[in-house]
Parts: sequence; structure tokens; C-alpha cells
Amino acid sequence: MNIGDLDRSAALSQARKLSKIGGLYVPESVRNFEDLPISGPIEIERISLAAAQRGGAILMSSGGTTGQPKLCYTPYHQAIDRLLKEWQPLSPQSVLLNLFNPGRLWGAHYFIQALADASRCTVAPTGPFVSDEASNWIEFLQGIHVNALAGAPTGLADFAQGALNSVGQLPIESIIWMGEPWTKTKIETVRKAFPSAGFWCDYGSVETNSIAVNSPGCDLEKYHLLEGQLIETDDQGALLTRIGEGWTVPIIRYRLGDLIKPTTCRCGRPRALLIEGRADNAISLCSALLSTSKITSLAYDCTGVEEVQLLLSCRSPDQKSADRITLQFTGNADASKVSKYVQENIHNLASVAKQYPQSFNAKKVHQLRRILRTNKIPQVIWVTDDE
Ligand SMILES: [Zn+2]
Repeated sequence: MNIGDLDRSAALSQARKLSKIGGLYVPESVRNFEDLPISGPIEIERISLAAAQRGGAILMSSGGTTGQPKLCYTPYHQAIDRLLKEWQPLSPQSVLLNLFNPGRLWGAHYFIQALADASRCTVAPTGPFVSDEASNWIEFLQGIHVNALAGAPTGLADFAQGALNSVGQLPIESIIWMGEPWTKTKIETVRKAFPSAGFWCDYGSVETNSIAVNSPGCDLEKYHLLEGQLIETDDQGALLTRIGEGWTVPIIRYRLGDLIKPTTCRCGRPRALLIEGRADNAISLCSALLSTSKITSLAYDCTGVEEVQLLLSCRSPDQKSADRITLQFTGNADASKVSKYVQENIHNLASVAKQYPQSFNAKKVHQLRRILRTNKIPQVIWVTDDE
């Protein structure tokens, strides 16, 4: 099934052009779009490097939160003009707080700066705050009339908690979020602190930049594919193709790591899609095949569980087979009850845990682990046994 529509012959001719600057080889015999080879991060790196040698670029890296790091040479325009045709979270009256971490080749902070520039608004590039710090800043932020925020859900929730802990209020109208999914606790905290804010999301990745957008009139978990692109759904991860000018990088059948399916959205706009999670969430624990998202979603079902994270211990670095899973969570739930509930609903996990009692355990913690570079809280972290 497809989302969006493209001129197939234009896509074929683009694939042939790209094959000369780092894209995959396209045999003369290929006549159908669906017969084109599937590309990956290596092709994006090569093609974007070739463009950078002509027009310059910002080098960005995905950092490999859930896989190998991917590099992309992103042109300075960051495809903002294409994005703004379908998504305008800011206006010249906006005063935006950029809560994304700068540096370390992470693109989000610089994307927000470019978006603010193109939207002709004022931006304060503060980077993230811890909650205690945020309360000290509120008076200053009121003084400069901050009315919009941009950050990853973890950073936004930290900031919102700081705002809730302080006397003053900020009249936030727009919240731009990206980089990780919401958890129930995080979005409730942010909504409580900023009840009038509309939520805006730009779905994409470091190597592709913007792909699809969500606006305040949309269902929170649904997005609209930006025009000029095609998504082919696939069990191994959706395939993205885009043609035309103004993108950060042209792409032919690029394998995204996410499972995507077509849907409808309450806003009524076309090309609606739903992201169902990562395609590569299968791991083996002592030879039993398990889905990490199934384990975390069961844990979230338990009363008193706020945030969940899996630590997967392994001796080998292939990040597919684990010797031990530690399900850690925040909240006031009883760890043994959480462990029991998850095992009751995943029978092969229960059998492994019975045979190897050390292989699975649930643990209540005060805080989950974060990625220093991005300040995000990944749902899954691989650790070596000595960590
Ligand atoms: Zn919508």
C-alpha cells in the first residue's frame, strides 16, 4: 500500500541520475518503479556529500540511539521552504525557546534556528533546562515574552515541570516537538503547564530531514506526508521516495526504520499516516524471539508505571541477542507485579525466565537513563555486561 503519489517515470529518471553521484546502480532493463533497488544510509551519505561539494552543507549524524550512526550533509536551507508550505507553527509574533541540545552533530537545534529565521520570529537558543533551573528562568522568560517552545518530549517535560514548580506562568501558544515519542506522563505534564498550547510535530530523521507533519488540528499520533513524496508500506520498514527540488536530499526507495501505515486524520487533510513503531524491535533473549515494544507496552498497562525503559545486556556487540533484560520504570508500581504481568502475557519470555531466572527482571528507579548528546530517553538501551 502506498501513501502519496509520484510520477513514476520521473522517479525512474531521477534514480538513473542519482546512480551517477553515489546512488545505487539502475540496470538498463528496469522499467517499473517497484523494481528499483532499495537504498540505505550509505547512499544518502554519498549523494548528500556530492551536493555538498557544490553548495556546502552542515554535517549531521543520527548518533545511533537505536542503531548504527548515519551521516548526512544537510544543505543550509534545510528544506524549510517546502515545509512552510504545509506547516506554519510560528509567526513573526512568536518568541521561541529552542530547548534542543546544540552541538555534537545533532541537527534538531539548527533546524529550529533555520525554521525561526524563515518564520521571521524571535528565537532564544537556550538549550535544555533541568526542572530546578527552569523555575529560576521563568521570570526572565516572561520578560522577553516567550510564547513558543521547541524540544524533544523529555526536554519539554523537564521544562514544564520547572514551570509548574514556579509561581509565574508562561502563555505558551505553540509547542514544536520532535525526536522521540510522547509518553502519557510527559504529555500530561506539558499540557498541565501550558494548557493553551497547540502541538506541532515535524516527523523525519537526521538523514532525511522533514518527511511528514502534525498540526494542532490533527490526532496527536498522526502525520501528513509532505507533497512530492511517496511512501511504500513494508514490514521491514517503510520506503520513502521524493523527487523535485528543494529537499535536503533526493531519495529513491529509502528504507526508513519505522513501520508506517495509511490512515485518516480528524483534520481531513490528505496523505495521513500512522507510525506504528520501529521495524527492528525484535531481539533474542537466550534464543527466544521477543518484541521490545510488546514488553514496554505491557509494562505501560500496569497501574502506577509512569515511564519504561529496557536495558538489554549483551556480550556480543551485534545488538540482536541479549543475555539479560532489565525492565526499569519510574512510578509507584510494585516491580514484582510488573514483572509477573509482562511474563503472563509473553509466554516465551516466561519460559526463558523460568529456566534462567537472571535473564529478566523488573526494577523501579528514580530516573531512566538519558542519551547525553540529545537529552532523550530511549525506550531501549544496549549495555555491555560490565556496565
Ligand atoms: Zn491531520
